[in-house]
Amino acid sequence: MGRIQLKQVKKAFGDVVVIPPLDLEIVDGEFVVFVGPSGCGKSTLLRLIAGLEDTTSGVIEIDGEDATALPPAKRRLAMVFQSYALYPHMTVRKNIAFPLRMAKMDQAEQDRRIEAAAKALNLTDYLHRRPGQLSGGQRQRVAIGRAIVREPAAFLFDEPLSNLDAALRVGMRMEISELHKKLKTTMVYVTHDQVEAMTMADKIVVLQAGVIEQVGSPLDLYHTPRNKFVAGFIGSPR
Ligand code: ADP
Ligand code: MG
Repeated sequence: MGRIQLKQVKKAFGDVVVIPPLDLEIVDGEFVVFVGPSGCGKSTLLRLIAGLEDTTSGVIEIDGEDATALPPAKRRLAMVFQSYALYPHMTVRKNIAFPLRMAKMDQAEQDRRIEAAAKALNLTDYLHRRPGQLSGGQRQRVAIGRAIVREPAAFLFDEPLSNLDAALRVGMRMEISELHKKLKTTMVYVTHDQVEAMTMADKIVVLQAGVIEQVGSPLDLYHTPRNKFVAGFIGSPR
């Protein structure tokens, strides 16, 4: 589970076409990175997949089912927001449990999921703390934990590390990559940072002005960039 297909998906805001019709297939279990300069449509594309924006036209399928008209809560996808979206007055446990409490899930099942997520994120000893008593990296892990407990078909990340300092960013990159190896769940990750894309992705989608310039592995893009834009953006010698 976790296959996402975009078929001729287009997005316009009023008269302004931000994403001309595009096709994209995200394979189950893949770590896909959308990369491109600021304003190229990365967030919009992710929000279309999440259901936070309506498509102007086209079809989005999740695990073979037409999800185009489904609200975000019914897509079985979890968007990971930046750590400042945590509730400061709630403990780590309550923050992580929040989506499960909203869904009125059975308490024993909630506890099982919270403990599994805490273990995967090395947060077991911090469940009773509040966000203000955690480091920036720990707070970001809590934000990820809140997504994990939903056991989604895919995780969607929109520049989750952009408000962390440089050293922490490197550590969190590795932690998210490690988590992907543990969970083997599809992850779609948006960044404008080439290094992040090259070090984390199985597959990179390079965007410019809403158009996919190239899709490929980091090595593909490095050795055989399709055009000057990709070569320049990825830092390839060609
Ligand atoms: P990125 O995430 O790559 O920086 P965005 O997806 O946020 O880019 O934005 C792509 C383009 O769409 C930008 O030109 C932006 O101004 C425009 N845009 C995004 N959201 C809206 C909106 N709600 N209304 C109008 N224009 C928008
Ligand atoms: Mg963005």
